[in-house]
Amino acid sequence: MQLKQLPEEFKQALPILTTITTAGFEAYFVGGSVRDTILNKPIHDVDIASSAYPAEVKNLFKKTVDTGIQHGTVMILDHGNGYEVTTFRTESGYQDYRRPDQVTFVRSLAEDLMRRDFTINALAMNAEGIITDLFGGLTDLKNHVIKAVGDPTARFHEDALRMMRAVRFSSQLNFQIETKTKQAIASQSELLTKIAMERIHEEFVKLMLGQAANQGVEQLISTNLYQYLPGLNEQVAKLQPLVQQKFELANENQVWSFLAMTLKISVQQISGWLKQWKTANKTVKDVTTMVQLLMVMEKQTVSNWDLYVAGKQNVVDALAVSQWLAMPYQPELIQEYDQLMITQKNQLTISGKELMQYQVVTAGPMLGKVLSYLEQQVVAGNLPNESESLVTAAKKYVQEK
Ligand code: ATP
Ligand code: MG
Repeated sequence: MQLKQLPEEFKQALPILTTITTAGFEAYFVGGSVRDTILNKPIHDVDIASSAYPAEVKNLFKKTVDTGIQHGTVMILDHGNGYEVTTFRTESGYQDYRRPDQVTFVRSLAEDLMRRDFTINALAMNAEGIITDLFGGLTDLKNHVIKAVGDPTARFHEDALRMMRAVRFSSQLNFQIETKTKQAIASQSELLTKIAMERIHEEFVKLMLGQAANQGVEQLISTNLYQYLPGLNEQVAKLQPLVQQKFELANENQVWSFLAMTLKISVQQISGWLKQWKTANKTVKDVTTMVQLLMVMEKQTVSNWDLYVAGKQNVVDALAVSQWLAMPYQPELIQEYDQLMITQKNQLTISGKELMQYQVVTAGPMLGKVLSYLEQQVVAGNLPNESESLVTAAKKYVQEK
């Protein structure tokens, strides 16, 4: 197969390939970008594989960065773009089910393609657009199949993360996992316990953001991988709502709050649950806020204060999630948010300092209480955000206390 029209990203990278090949080495585009181009999907990073050793690559270009030199990867900086060039390599060892004990640089493309995970990820393309396909990847792309390169049992034994990757690609591309590949996952799913949660996390979020995410969850169940995923590992019955209907999520916060609502993980449990997943602290905070808001949306009228506390992005995300849950859709909440008198405490026209100057209150715990009261009243729309009204209301509040 030869691609006649290369996407712009490849055209820009062509001089890199020709510099390497003119020097007498081989160089190819490899991995996800080749796969996605054949599928007519937009591509992100353009990865290059070459027979040149890292030192030889570095000799050919002015600006390079050693991004992963011990694995054979050198980044070439070219007109503001960065291209990773990785020397053809083989891997061996894998005594810990996750990382090769040794990588060996080789001069043969075939050996490099052999170490790659799935046939659709083991395609290489040269500067003329000619595709090298040693494992039937083009047919599998056409038939929408995820199939391990070589013996699937051995490949998942080498690196157990590949099992999550199989399901992740199935969700992202809406492909089926080939029978033997799937059976090998099902029989070795327990090896996932050897893999760092950070890496499982990355694949899982990509899976949940995929176009066929409900199919992805279904595969997690039928391969038993779900048993090793925090919060999903309790009862299969609880996962059924995720399988039965399609859902489309746009970011990680949406993923976790959708899951918390569907799996009935309470607000109090969220932090412990997400810590197991090793999410960022900010994610824990946002998801907790979103779930709190979604619980109100489910049962009661959302107040200005609820919106204010959540913040705009969490309101937008919670609304997006709500359409996949059994609750009324309330797009008017965005407008209501935009009409809030203030969105942050420091937008109050009066400060603590001024309240003291006007002798409404002295420094101490009462000052904080007065400011919180004013904040709530302004957000609720009970008080205009202007100093005279705020001072009067503050005086009244202090007297009544
Ligand atoms: P994405 O679109 O998510 O970037 P990708 O296929 O480019 O998809 P990467 O994780 O960026 O995935 O990896 C680039 C390539 O490296 C893959 O296409 C595959 O050939 C190879 N690869 C990545 N991870 C593994 C792995 N765990 N085992 C074997 N090969 C892998
Ligand atoms: Mg990639």
